[in-house]
Amino acid sequence: KIPIIFVTGQDSVEEEEFGLSLGAVDYITKPIHPSIVKARVKTHIILKNQYDLLEKIALRDQLTKLYNRHHFADALSGKVSSSIRHSSSLSLLILDIDHFKSINDTYGHGVGDEVLRDVASILLRNARAEDIAARLGGEEFVIVLDNCNLEDAIKKAEFLRQEIEDYYPVGIDVTASFGVIELSKTDTCVQFLDYADQALYQAKKEGRNRVVAYKR
Ligand code: GH3
Ligand code: MG
Ligand code: MG
Repeated sequence: KIPIIFVTGQDSVEEEEFGLSLGAVDYITKPIHPSIVKARVKTHIILKNQYDLLEKIALRDQLTKLYNRHHFADALSGKVSSSIRHSSSLSLLILDIDHFKSINDTYGHGVGDEVLRDVASILLRNARAEDIAARLGGEEFVIVLDNCNLEDAIKKAEFLRQEIEDYYPVGIDVTASFGVIELSKTDTCVQFLDYADQALYQAKKEGRNRVVAYKR
């Protein structure tokens, strides 16, 4: 993702074509004119900053800075096919804040937003670099755990559930319910997520503030 500019004495058309075909953003031959090099570099810095900003807007949720649903869907299909190809384990946990509507109704939307940001940062703090933590929408989040079997995913969910329970923003009782699943070779992406959702629904039904694993 770092733009590369060749500055070189090799000034044939073939060499320039080769340099650009390798992915360089620009090719400057010697003798150089410093002001022209500076101008070209400046252009590429502007382009790079614009690209980074667009990427941030397109992939991240504005409020929590977690990945958004769109990026999550793309990334999940990559993780699922790579896990099946390499026979490595892949687990997913989905969580939904309990009675969030009443937090909004009681303390206002601003406090609700703050709770969402804080829960997101609890998730982010406890995720590995290769895990994908995303906000699916509203007060619903998901974490995809690479090389993680069901038993470890349940432990992770239980840990996060406790972290959220222990966090008391301005005296508000915040809890979340979790659905956990490990990928089976025959699952499609849609099924994988759907089964996790069913486990989450079960956790809500059984009284909330708990972790339920999907039973095969
Ligand atoms: P349950 O325990 O069954 O999950 O109940 P709940 O109240 O959490 O679920 P419900 O789906 O009834 O309400 C979710 C609420 O989340 C309603 C909606 O207004 C609120 N919400 C969705 N997005 C945002 C947001 O970005 N900020 C805030 N503050 N509230 C949001
Ligand atoms: Mg909820
Ligand atoms: Mg919800």
